[in-house]
Amino acid sequence: MTAPCIIIGASHAAAQLSLNVRQQGWQGDIIVIGQESFLPYQRPPLSKTFLSGEKTVEDLLIKPESAYEKANVSFRLNTQVVEIDRQNKTVTLNNGDMLEYAKLALCTGATANPLPILGANLKGVHYLRNAHDAIALKSDISSKKHAVIIGGGFIGLEAAAALRQKAMHVTILEAQDAILQRVVSPEVAAFFTQLHESFGVVIRPNSIATSFEGSEAVTAVTCNNGEKIPADVVIIGIGVTPETRLAEQSGLTVKNGIFVNEFAQTNDPDIVAAGDCASYFHEIYQTDIRIESIQNALEQSKSAAASMNNKQIAFSSNIPRFWSDQYDIKLQICGVIDGYDAVEIEQDLEKRVLNALYFRKEKLIAAIAVNNPAWLTKVQPFIKNGEPVNNELIESMRQK
Ligand SMILES: Cc1cc2nc3c(=O)[nH]c(=O)nc-3n(C[C@H](O)[C@H](O)[C@H](O)COP(=O)(O)OP(=O)(O)OC[C@H]3O[C@@H](n4cnc5c(N)ncnc54)[C@H](O)[C@@H]3O)c2cc1C
Repeated sequence: MTAPCIIIGASHAAAQLSLNVRQQGWQGDIIVIGQESFLPYQRPPLSKTFLSGEKTVEDLLIKPESAYEKANVSFRLNTQVVEIDRQNKTVTLNNGDMLEYAKLALCTGATANPLPILGANLKGVHYLRNAHDAIALKSDISSKKHAVIIGGGFIGLEAAAALRQKAMHVTILEAQDAILQRVVSPEVAAFFTQLHESFGVVIRPNSIATSFEGSEAVTAVTCNNGEKIPADVVIIGIGVTPETRLAEQSGLTVKNGIFVNEFAQTNDPDIVAAGDCASYFHEIYQTDIRIESIQNALEQSKSAAASMNNKQIAFSSNIPRFWSDQYDIKLQICGVIDGYDAVEIEQDLEKRVLNALYFRKEKLIAAIAVNNPAWLTKVQPFIKNGEPVNNELIESMRQK
């Protein structure tokens, strides 16, 4: 009997990958091993509708249990893989069990960066990476009034919007001189600053939390200027680190992520990786890249499933897409703005519109749209083709 296909991480990528491996012809067992207690669920709502609404984690499941049963995919939840032995093609679990594999997929995602300052263990201090975090946060905010969010990235801003909908006082501490610096240009960051301020959020740039105050539960956050901001809830959203420990321990190539080729294969032909944990060389951007988005997890898992069945589907020339929902706004980003040297932008906060085009060496490399998905979809092929700056493209931005 052939050894099974094993997927590590009951993740977004794993949901797609496990079913695709079967669809593409895998005959043997498929086992997904996840350290959380849930079947794969959607993380994006955790900082959006899950926080502000009535949904349960069961409502967020990517597929119902029956879909996996039908495809004969089995799960071992609440179980961590602690070691990979590539020589003997086995994985060791935290309960001591050892499982053989014929093909292995690493879908281990990413882990929230910790903020190890004084008071970090106080009640009321939260991270927001997984459903367990979100359940704890949601139950805490039901009785609280003052939130301080550390980090003005997407998670922090989405959480701010959700907490404002619950009429909480919200302050965002941002270490840089503007929010969203890693992913958008200053003009777009300014648009989102104004948006949040118009909803009553206080944004404090150049502010670094130095300690959390309180004896049992948090009562305030002390900043680098010595000021104490009252808080009965704190959310730390200061980025994530790809979960690459198993890959490193087993000698796979890791470059800010488990490094894969265009078919999601690592440097071991029997091991693939997909999702937030994987990095790759992007043909269009001519650089190594690691993307944290659903679209990326889904596309890489299709390629990974093909590779596990000894077929080839390339994902690597796809243009990254990402979205974020805040209040009545849907922000969408297509491409990567890193290294842009020119930008064309059209915006109106009151009308809730913003369209932006980013160029490098006179070629289109990325576009950002607020509440304008049709335009972004139209522009996407031009990014793929590295379209030179032209008036028609710029004009398209102005017609809504
Ligand atoms: C709050 C939040 C909001 C987001 N919003 C958006 C959005 O609006 N748009 C968007 O495109 N993306 C968004 N993202 C990002 C998106 O959710 C991720 O890109 C996507 O979930 C990545 O999926 P993945 O398959 O790589 O891994 P994940 O879904 O992160 O899952 C990895 C799983 O592997 C498990 N694991 C790790 N190591 C082991 C081990 N050794 N043994 C067993 N299990 C292990 C982890 O516990 C985890 O359950 C958001 C993420 C978060 C947290």
